[in-house]
Amino acid sequence: MDCREPEVALMAIATASPIVRFSGVSKNYGIYQAIDGIDLDIVPGEFITFLGPSGSGKTTTLMMLAGFETPSEGTIEMDGRRIERLPAHKRNIGVVFQNYALFPHMSVRDNLAFPLSVRRVEAADIRSRVDAALAMVHLEGLGDRKPVQLSGGQQQRVALARAIIFKPRLIVLDEPLGALDKNLREHLQAELKALHRDLGTTMVFVTHDQSEALTLSDRVAVFNKGRIEQIDTPEALYERPATPFVASFIGENNMLPGRIEAKDGDEVAIRFAGGGLLRARCQTSCRSGDEIILSIRPENIRRASADAGQHVSAAVIDIVYLGDQRRILVEADGIGRLVFKTSAGGEKPIAQGERIDIELSAGACRVLPKE
Ligand code: ADP
Ligand code: MG
Repeated sequence: MDCREPEVALMAIATASPIVRFSGVSKNYGIYQAIDGIDLDIVPGEFITFLGPSGSGKTTTLMMLAGFETPSEGTIEMDGRRIERLPAHKRNIGVVFQNYALFPHMSVRDNLAFPLSVRRVEAADIRSRVDAALAMVHLEGLGDRKPVQLSGGQQQRVALARAIIFKPRLIVLDEPLGALDKNLREHLQAELKALHRDLGTTMVFVTHDQSEALTLSDRVAVFNKGRIEQIDTPEALYERPATPFVASFIGENNMLPGRIEAKDGDEVAIRFAGGGLLRARCQTSCRSGDEIILSIRPENIRRASADAGQHVSAAVIDIVYLGDQRRILVEADGIGRLVFKTSAGGEKPIAQGERIDIELSAGACRVLPKE
C-alpha cells in the first residue's frame, strides 16, 4: 500500500488554520443528550463528510453549524469568531436541506434570485448570476418552471445552485442525494465533486451511506451516538479503523472477540474462546490479558497455499454466488465464523461441507479495543 498521498493530505490538514472549530459542543433535548462533547476542526477548501447511522447526531451538528440549532454547551468558531449565537442568515453559509426546501410558488429563477435580493444585489447582476448558476448545475432552459414541474434530481440541482449563488464561505449539505435512485445519485455525486473542485469552497456533507462518503470526501468524521469516533481520510478509515464501530461501519470486517495471551514487540498472540490462537499486529497500546476484538477484512483472507504463513483449518458452511465473486462462510477451528471472498472462475472451486485451510496473515489482523 502506498501511504504517501493521504499522509501529505493529513499534514496539510494539520497545519492549515481551521475555517470552523467546534470545541466541546454538546446538545441536549430535555434530558436527552443528542450530541456529547464534539471537538472538530474543518480546514479551508476541504470536502468533509459526517457519516453515521440514523440518529447518531449528524443533522443536529450540521444545524448547529448553520445556525438552526444552538449548542447547550461549547463553542463554534468560524474564521476565529464565535458564531454559536449568531442568526443563520448572518453566518455566510449556504445550506442544502434534506428535503430540497425550495419555495413552491416561485419559479426556479426566483428561487435562485432570492438569496441575492435579500443581500441587496443589483437586478442586472442578479440576472447574470442566476444564468451562471443555472449553467453550473446544467439547468439552462428550465428557469421559468415551478419546482413541482421538475424531477427530484432537477430540484436538488436547484437547491444546490441556491446554496452556492451568493458565494458563501462554506456550504453544508444534509443528505442531499438520499431521495434519489442509485444511478442519478452517482451522477450527482460526480457533479458535486466537480463543483467542489471548480469553486474551491469548503463543503460539509452529511450521509449515512459509507460508499458515498468514501467517494466524495477529503476527510470523513464517523458519528456514533452523538460522538465522533474517528476523523480521517477515506484510506486511513478503511485501512486503519480505530474502533470496532468504525471497522464494522466502513466496508466489511470479520470481528472476533479474544484475549491477548502474549506480546512480543508489535506482534501479539490472541487466544479465542474456542481455544484457537492467532498472531496479529497490535497498533494500539495493548497488554497481555486485555480483552480485544480482532478484525480482518474478507479480502485479506485467502484459501491457503502449501507455503502459506499463518493458516487455520476451517469447515465451509455456506457459499453465496455474487456474479464475479463467491462469498464463503466458514467455521475456523477454535476461532469462529469468518467470511471471505474468492473469484468465481479460476481457482479450484470450494464446495459446501468441504474442509479447507485458510490464510490469515498477521499483518492483516488488526487488534481493536473492546467497547
Ligand atoms: P442523524 O441526522 O444522524 O440521523 P439527528 O441529529 O437528527 O441524527 O438526531 C440525533 C438524535 O437527536 C436522535 O436521537 C434524534 O431523535 C434526536 N433529536 C433530534 N432533533 C430533536 C428534537 N428537536 N427534539 C428531540 N430530539 C431530537
Ligand atoms: Mg439527519
